[in-house]
Amino acid sequence: MRCTTVRENQECVFMKKAGCSYEGGACKPIDEKCEGCNRVGVLPLGKYCASVPDPASKWLLGNCNLATHIVVEVVETKTKVNPLKASKRGARGK
Ligand code: SF4
Repeated sequence: MRCTTVRENQECVFMKKAGCSYEGGACKPIDEKCEGCNRVGVLPLGKYCASVPDPASKWLLGNCNLATHIVVEVVETKTKVNPLKASKRGARGK
C-alpha cells in the first residue's frame, strides 16, 4: 500500500489499511552515522533511509551492512602452504 506518513505516496510493505504497522507507526530518521550514505533521502519531514525503516538499529552491532560510505579494508594474512609438503606432513601424522 502507499504510505500516508513519512514517505507519502511511496509503496511500502508496512503500510496497512489501519495505518503504518511498523514499530512506532512510522519510519525513524537516520542515525548520525548515516551521514554521507547514498541511501539517505531528504523528505519533507527530515532525512530517512531508503532501505531501512529504523537506521539506528543497523548500527547497533557494528557498521551498517548496507552503508555506501564506509570502506572496509581487508587484510589478508594467508601464508603459502606447499601442497606437497603438507601432504607429506599429513602422512607422517604431524
Ligand atoms: S543504508 Fe545504512 S548507513 Fe545508509 S542510510 Fe540506511 S541505515 Fe544509514
